[in-house]
Amino acid sequence: MRYPAMTVNREKVLKNARAAAALCEEFGIEAWGVTKGLSGDPRLADIYCEAGFAGIADSRLRNLEKIRNAGVAAPLQLMRVAMRSELEDLVRWSDVSLQSEISTIIAIDEICARVGATHDVLLMMDMGDLREGFLPGDLPPALPMLKDLKGGVRICGVATNFACASGVLPTPENMAKLVSCRDMASDALGTEMPVVSVGGTCCLKIIEERAAPKEVNQLRICEGILLGTDTAFDREIPYLAQDAITITAEIVECRLKPSVPEGETGLQAFGEKPVFADRGTRKRALLGMGRQDVNIDRITPMERGVHIVTASSDHLIVDVTDADSARPPDGGCKPGDTLRFRPLYPAMLACSTSEYVDLVFE
Ligand SMILES: *Cc1c(COP(=O)(O)O)cnc(C)c1O
Repeated sequence: MRYPAMTVNREKVLKNARAAAALCEEFGIEAWGVTKGLSGDPRLADIYCEAGFAGIADSRLRNLEKIRNAGVAAPLQLMRVAMRSELEDLVRWSDVSLQSEISTIIAIDEICARVGATHDVLLMMDMGDLREGFLPGDLPPALPMLKDLKGGVRICGVATNFACASGVLPTPENMAKLVSCRDMASDALGTEMPVVSVGGTCCLKIIEERAAPKEVNQLRICEGILLGTDTAFDREIPYLAQDAITITAEIVECRLKPSVPEGETGLQAFGEKPVFADRGTRKRALLGMGRQDVNIDRITPMERGVHIVTASSDHLIVDVTDADSARPPDGGCKPGDTLRFRPLYPAMLACSTSEYVDLVFE
């Protein structure tokens, strides 16, 4: 094995996915598996399909293209509002997308008419998080412009996202407001709009509490399945595993060193001035993984007694003094040993996009 590596435990992710899908199913909600957390890796899409998810969603078209080309047959959804420069590919690589600009929807419709394709659109609504989406008040003047689509685009419902840009949490009330936007749009367009889609992981809590309006029927989810956490509500999800994804790095040097630098200190390579407490001589391990690979303040050592000290582009320095005392007398950390870390969401994203980190499914 090459290091650093990010390891995906297939069974654990599958179990998490099945648990979330079962919870959703109980409330008539179809789960869509979001693949962007692992850069659209088709092996993750396969796991979602095996868990019975209704479709695969990603924020990047090139990830959907990769997934389709790997032979995944499930419906594919683009979740990031499309760029005008990518609409041909949008129609080609996705079946459904979230859109918030009338002119873009019309342009998609024109492409559909030209190439003889159909494409489903969910109107993206801004329920207060202030990232993308129509504000509810924007809908009445906008909807008439969607009345003369040539037929390639079908407006199938509404969607929203919580806690992404501003941390606005989902509530039964803002979910109900989303449902009323669907009703308003469906009346204005005179068409059925069956889908009410919410995301992401934070929505699970409302579903668990049996508080989601019954009209909500689609959940787009990533973080909870992969990491077992819900950052927005700051919790570990009790029925999901938190150790399905781990990062492993290799020790390249192990040495007793003072805990305070010697000499006058300026700024380190990243423009910061680190402060170190004097804890005497400590055993430090140097790992072949650095800031170029991972957000070092978004990973947690899994081995007890390992503490992150600092890092540069290519090295992570950890204090292993306490870890060593927990090992057998001859079993201290040494070069060639590996240490494991649990990533938070940003660290997982960074590792999955770094070409220096191998993504391993076990
Ligand atoms: C990332 C994303 C999700 C999934 O969010 P998680 O909190 O990671 O589950 C859902 N919808 C949209 C639009 C997203 O961008």
